[in-house]
Amino acid sequence: MRKILLVGNWKMHLNTSQASLLVHRLSERIKIHRDVEVVLAPSMLVLQPLSMQIDRRKFRLAAQNAYYKDEGAFTGEVSFTMLQDLVHYVIIGHSERRHVFGENHRLIRDKVSACVRNGITPILCIGETKDERTAKETSRVLHDQLTSAVSDLTADEVSNMVIAYEPVWAISNGANYATHEIAKPDEVEKAVKVIRHNVYELYGRKASEAVRVLYGGSSNAENARAYLEVPGIDGLLPGGASLNYHEFSTMVDIADKIQSARKDIPDGNE
Ligand code: PEP
Repeated sequence: MRKILLVGNWKMHLNTSQASLLVHRLSERIKIHRDVEVVLAPSMLVLQPLSMQIDRRKFRLAAQNAYYKDEGAFTGEVSFTMLQDLVHYVIIGHSERRHVFGENHRLIRDKVSACVRNGITPILCIGETKDERTAKETSRVLHDQLTSAVSDLTADEVSNMVIAYEPVWAISNGANYATHEIAKPDEVEKAVKVIRHNVYELYGRKASEAVRVLYGGSSNAENARAYLEVPGIDGLLPGGASLNYHEFSTMVDIADKIQSARKDIPDGNE
């Protein structure tokens, strides 16, 4: 049984002391869960101090971005090589990187390859924009983003990675949850099927069953259960909700309850 993975993307929020306070509060509320993996993705600046503060039985760290060259004259960049001892994961291809910073398929592919080459697990974000959804192009967009990003990887490397389905139109960006459009669980289910089917076509059954698929887009304590119960979903990637310790730790509690319930169901082979 795959563990549930919750990845809190703090984006460009929280300075060092604010981040430390949030980790302190989360640590008070979150227990050691064997079957739920909790990952924090703070800003680059905060990774180093948090790596000394976190209880590694409870949390792992992710970077939100990195550059694909291992070292050199690339002013302002941080490489995957430099992150090797600090993080388990790096988020790659987040829609803000694609749309605000103009990252294209090729750059994202190079980042995924560099991530794997440096022994870090990529969390590859893919998802359609509002216009692409209206034009019913979701499956094509997911196919193109996925296929190009993993084209340098082997089946084993793909099996070990994480893919996050993040419809761009459903990302909250601090929007009011009450009025903001959110993805329905059945839409998420369709997208997850498309993603696993693409992995199946490219790398076979084993990889399509092993790869972990997350959902991200306005997930919070209220809707976490509905998304986590979507067949084929292995976890969530909340942005806004991960900045609130009560909200995020409640999501961890929900994930733990779902995982315990799954364990109680006989798998039919006994
Ligand atoms: C994200 O940034 O990846 C995200 C899903 O944000 P939010 O949960 O705030 O929509």
